[in-house]
Amino acid sequence: MKPEMPSQALPRPTEIAHQLLAGVVRPGARAVDATAGNGHDTVFLAGLVGESGRVLALDIQPEAVAATRARCDSAGLGGRVRMVHGGHEDWDSHLAAEGWEPGCVAAAVFNLGYLPGAGKSRITKPATTLVALERALAWLATDGLITVVCYPGHPGGAEEGEAVRGWAAGLAPKDYQSMSYGYLNQPSAPPFLVAVRGRRPGGAVPGS
Ligand code: SAH
Repeated sequence: MKPEMPSQALPRPTEIAHQLLAGVVRPGARAVDATAGNGHDTVFLAGLVGESGRVLALDIQPEAVAATRARCDSAGLGGRVRMVHGGHEDWDSHLAAEGWEPGCVAAAVFNLGYLPGAGKSRITKPATTLVALERALAWLATDGLITVVCYPGHPGGAEEGEAVRGWAAGLAPKDYQSMSYGYLNQPSAPPFLVAVRGRRPGGAVPGS
């Protein structure tokens, strides 16, 4: 069989994040969208977890909660999604309120920066982002996945991206694999993906 020709464009960081998530999130799984925004990632996760799975989507902006709910409902996936109006830094209380327990989260998705179309006043901040990433790690299944798309282009975004990269780089290699993917030759601070995958006890990364 002839191998399929790759399309000309390399995938964007958000597309790579979705490809990685599709390889990890199985029907029945639990997943968290830590920055629901307009709900694109929430809908994607809701498709992956299937009817028996659940997605918890968090955002501090009521507009984002409403937009995500509407997008999930119009996709017919609202029944699998729980929306929370609150900060991802309060991860423990949001997940515990759903009856979830540490170790149950197959995947956590972060898409940093500001809500597209809603002004840049309520952006994610390094201090709270790092708290949330630590909590995500604590609640992650042993072979779970965290994806973080960072946007260094807005004020504060470069520092936040560096903080995320530094956090991922500091994870113990015996417990986690961390990688980054982004454009090298685009002007004006292009976005990049940081991905973290847990290793099963014994050290093997699933699928490798
Ligand atoms: N993934 C979204 C885009 C996310 S934009 C999409 O596909 O459309 C980043 C979002 O993070 C914004 O909606 C913003 O309100 C939210 N946010 C900022 N700080 C937050 C916090 N501390 N906790 C949860 N969400 C936060």
